[in-house]
Amino acid sequence: MIGCKCETCISNDERDRRLRSSILIEHNDSRIIVDTSTDFRQQALRLGLDGVDAIFITHCHADHVFGLDDIRPINFRTGKAICCFASTRTWKDVRQVFSYIFRPSGYPGLPQLVPHTMEGAFTLFGMTIQPLEVTHGRLPVTAFRISTEEKSWAYVIDCNLIPEETLTELMDLDLLIIDALRYREHPTHLNLEKTLKYIEQLKPKQALLTHMSHDFRHELLSSQLPENISPAFDGLQLEV
Ligand SMILES: [Zn+2]
Ligand SMILES: [Zn+2]
Ligand SMILES: [Zn+2]
Repeated sequence: MIGCKCETCISNDERDRRLRSSILIEHNDSRIIVDTSTDFRQQALRLGLDGVDAIFITHCHADHVFGLDDIRPINFRTGKAICCFASTRTWKDVRQVFSYIFRPSGYPGLPQLVPHTMEGAFTLFGMTIQPLEVTHGRLPVTAFRISTEEKSWAYVIDCNLIPEETLTELMDLDLLIIDALRYREHPTHLNLEKTLKYIEQLKPKQALLTHMSHDFRHELLSSQLPENISPAFDGLQLEV
């Protein structure tokens, strides 16, 4: 956090240096980025990312979408527009925030997107993608259950509540990646206690915590968690 001198912010542990939350999914040589965060450019450069085949947007909050303009080098490299998936509600906000992208201007340097509205499960690059709704204060946010023939996992970000009908869709997961902002309660995010309750209820084989604030020092938090739950960190790569 800018200007903060707390133990996490001055920590020498690389895992305590967090950019905004985002994940890259790779399957069958295709790549999906979930949220083009404010830090998308830095994240893409660090990873050496040279292409993206689809973008999923969970919701239109600054930390999750403000990197959208930085997909342009990928458009330039490939000469192709990128399919972008979001809910009706999220598209309404994205079209407003990024009005210049969607307004016909004749300028060839704009980000090139093909908008898709998500309604129910669909198949993409050999995976079944099931969009699910979670509650982020008063805003509905899209979570994802992603399945292949062998494995199922889910990405549940930015929520303080998981509705019953979404909970039933999050059973039998090999991996759950879930919001855990801090120790204390928060009006629009899960705090650690609530996150752990959901994990206990859903019983995924493995769980990773994300969207963490400077409340959490990686090493200390790791030592406080059961064996199958761990804090995620920037650059973490794993195979489901
Ligand atoms: Zn701090
Ligand atoms: Zn948010
Ligand atoms: Zn967020």
